[in-house]
Amino acid sequence: MIGPGRAIGILGGGQLGRMLAQAAQSLGYRVHVYTPSEASPAGAVADRESVAAYDDLAALGEFARSVDVVTYEFENIPAEPLEAIAKLVELHPSPAVLRTCQNRRREKAWLSENDFPHAAYAEALEGDILAAAAEVGLPCVVKTADFGYDGKGQMRIATAEDLVRASAIFRGRRCVVEQWVDFERELSVICARTRSGETRPFPASENLHSEHILDISIVPARVPHAVEEAARTLAVQVADRLGVVGLLAVEMFLARDGRLLVNELAPRPHNSGHWSIDAGETSQFEQHVRAVCGLPLGPAGARNPAVMVNILGDAWTRRPGGPDWAAVLSEPRAKLHLYGKPEPRPGRKMGHFTVQGPDLEDTLSLAREIKARL
Ligand code: ADP
Ligand code: MG
Repeated sequence: MIGPGRAIGILGGGQLGRMLAQAAQSLGYRVHVYTPSEASPAGAVADRESVAAYDDLAALGEFARSVDVVTYEFENIPAEPLEAIAKLVELHPSPAVLRTCQNRRREKAWLSENDFPHAAYAEALEGDILAAAAEVGLPCVVKTADFGYDGKGQMRIATAEDLVRASAIFRGRRCVVEQWVDFERELSVICARTRSGETRPFPASENLHSEHILDISIVPARVPHAVEEAARTLAVQVADRLGVVGLLAVEMFLARDGRLLVNELAPRPHNSGHWSIDAGETSQFEQHVRAVCGLPLGPAGARNPAVMVNILGDAWTRRPGGPDWAAVLSEPRAKLHLYGKPEPRPGRKMGHFTVQGPDLEDTLSLAREIKARL
């Protein structure tokens, strides 16, 4: 066990790293953040910060030797430097887990090999979208194999014209082409897993996206109890099979025929789990710290129904002076979290707020009202 008072290294400087650092500090850990960018949200709250590239082996070595355990908040870290770190210090989740999850081709192949349900897909290695789309049929979605997040590197294809455009855009890039799922709901389950193989899933979250970016998460998901149970069981099975130590977020579609299809895996805290900071028995960030440090896991229930709303940079475009924070702050059932990012660009996650209350539909209406007034 790596107990409180020891040092945790976090690779990545974004908001997930910031909230992870804050949770670690609450438990008495010292936090060293490693990030390639100046003025990062996580660097701002860390006890110590290293600003260097992910392939700077000297800087990574110094970072690794300064801490007792390393984790990451960001998937697009090259696997080789991670392997170098893993030789110097404990690193969770393992580089092998990250390798599987950080590339859509490998992720999909892994799901297939392990018989986990997912949407039909075809690989387009040289950006040959036409052949791949012919295989899966229209509508479909093209996703670059590497470095995608928040809908970046994705395009939905519904018509022959879209196909022609996509072929030009993705030419020469490694992609997967995936059947478009006409889903009933989008869900995610975040599951913690310890070194000894104990697993503990959070309740399923229902996720509403806007332009491929998460907009609202609703907990508990508005699905029948049996679906919630099946989603949690699926997440536990995936976490076990991967052998992850830490958190694994499993994004899923609930198809109209009732099947659950795995969309994406993320071996880290996840945007759809932010509700747990205010309404969870244990926050996902604390749970991740507990899992990677070998502490006992906390209870993973929700104390209340909760709704989390992302605040994107677009909110600044709509209102030149920036959002009206009083809309959130004057509501006793709402909690505001801002990530300290200086520049509000469209599509950029600047913060979120969570509303909780005994009645889910009433909580959702209040969250939507606040969002409209922001
Ligand atoms: P990322 O979260 O890395 O940007 P995702 O693959 O999760 O990439 O896609 C983002 C969102 O786009 C999904 O949460 C979903 O709303 C939508 N989407 C992606 N793939 C599909 C699909 N095959 N069918 C329907 N919707 C999809
Ligand atoms: Mg996703």
